Amino acid sequence: MNRVTGPGSHDRRRFLTAGTAVLGASASAQLWLPAAARAEAPLPEGVFGLGVASGDPLPDGVVLWTRLAPEPLDGGGMPERTVPVLWEVAEGERFARRVRRGTAYARPELGHSVHVDVRGLCPGRTYWFRFRAGGRISPVGRTRTAPHPYAAGGALRLALAPCQNWQHGYFTPYADMLAQDPDVVLFVGDYIYESAPSATAVRRHEGSGEPYTLTQYRNRYAQYRNRYAQYRNRYAQYRSDPDLAAMHANAPFVVTFDDHEVDNDFAGEIPQDPDRQTHDAFVARLTAACRAYYEHMPVRAAAIPDGPHIRMHRRLEFGRLARLDVLDTRQYRSDQAVSQAGARDPALTLLGARQKRWLLEGLRDSPARWNLIASQIMMAETDLLAGEGKQWFYDAWDGYQAERNEFLKAFRGVRNPVVLTGDRHLTMVSELRADFADPASPVVGAEFVGTSVSSGGDQDQDAFRREWGPRLADNPHWKLIDARRGHHLFDVRRDGIDARVRVVDTVRSPRSASGTLARLRVDAGRPGVRVV
Ligand code: FE
Ligand code: CA
Repeated sequence: MNRVTGPGSHDRRRFLTAGTAVLGASASAQLWLPAAARAEAPLPEGVFGLGVASGDPLPDGVVLWTRLAPEPLDGGGMPERTVPVLWEVAEGERFARRVRRGTAYARPELGHSVHVDVRGLCPGRTYWFRFRAGGRISPVGRTRTAPHPYAAGGALRLALAPCQNWQHGYFTPYADMLAQDPDVVLFVGDYIYESAPSATAVRRHEGSGEPYTLTQYRNRYAQYRNRYAQYRNRYAQYRSDPDLAAMHANAPFVVTFDDHEVDNDFAGEIPQDPDRQTHDAFVARLTAACRAYYEHMPVRAAAIPDGPHIRMHRRLEFGRLARLDVLDTRQYRSDQAVSQAGARDPALTLLGARQKRWLLEGLRDSPARWNLIASQIMMAETDLLAGEGKQWFYDAWDGYQAERNEFLKAFRGVRNPVVLTGDRHLTMVSELRADFADPASPVVGAEFVGTSVSSGGDQDQDAFRREWGPRLADNPHWKLIDARRGHHLFDVRRDGIDARVRVVDTVRSPRSASGTLARLRVDAGRPGVRVV
């Protein structure tokens, strides 16, 4: 199953649906249980209803995830006690050759989530895993380790997805992504949306308002029970999308969060509407949001939140082929500018001093052929004002131009930088220029804004062209813009990256046709990107 030969060897596909594998696995569930565990208190059926996931692959390991939640939309429904959970990793879907096993503990203070940081695996390999607790067995998950640290060749298939708004549509792009069988999925923010339920949505958010807290208020007065929607319930609802759940069960994710995991457009400890949320109240909300995020994401213990802080910026290596620097452009930023002069103010920071230094050093010292940078928000300029003058989104890198330009200048000394972002709910593929104010400045890299899974919903393409077409002349660095829902797929090889913009016909129904909207190419050693 060692897939270093490239995307041609897609024999893994026959294992794709975790659901079918589960049925086969249940019969043998008792066989791999130690006698002591067999005697444990039984847990209700559906305790593994949130499925399984994996993430942050290393050459010798990966994080395995599940969460015990028999009542996923009502706080979880678990008893207030720590529950032992057995896990095992095997070389095949039938678990005939187990390579690792152990016991993890699902604790009530972490929503009975389970994060197993498995080590001792072989590089560049596919593995299967499952959990067992209280007489129940989880669906089978499939995951893959990163290539050997010195592997310079081979191919890495990476899928990019941001922005999945439950209310705007079904997550049909994941069905297409699953069929493309990526080695790893990069999710760059807006995994949930905190918005209140809307009666006119394609499908409706749970609860009765925006989430502020982690768990439901256990108050005997009924009116308090639904006063706040809760983050845990919101994540659980999102995970009930079958295409998202299947993708999680079939490939490791590398995730980072943006604003909607907490509150629209927040910056550090400053909420969207400071006059309506006090600082203390917002810090409490941030604390709950960070906790729920950790609980539901397949990430290492380094991401266990410390109050309102969570460490999400980190570095992953895919042999010598690619280094992936995952950024946090939300937690350490200055509050957004409100004027063009403000957007150019060198006092503003997006990454914060420490993360900025960490990124610059990591780029400079990188041994990798490709330096992939996962940023929540778009780096290339977006001039919204057709003709004379400029107009920018201040929440994106355009609002933090001094720091952005510092990175763009540094990119000239970096081997093959490619920025992968989201937020825009559009496909936007751009050349990165050292200075967007100077059209003659050199191209230093490429950026892909990976449209959205569902956010924004199905768009009127004519209306999009009418709105955005007049801006094209002002933004000559845009090589492709489009408003369809989908994801981007990258085949990273030594000599270049072949990218495909995969789009679906609709997210208004649970099933959709899909196809390739465009193919793009980034050649190694030649900054920029072109449509092919
Ligand atoms: Fe979004
Ligand atoms: Ca203009």
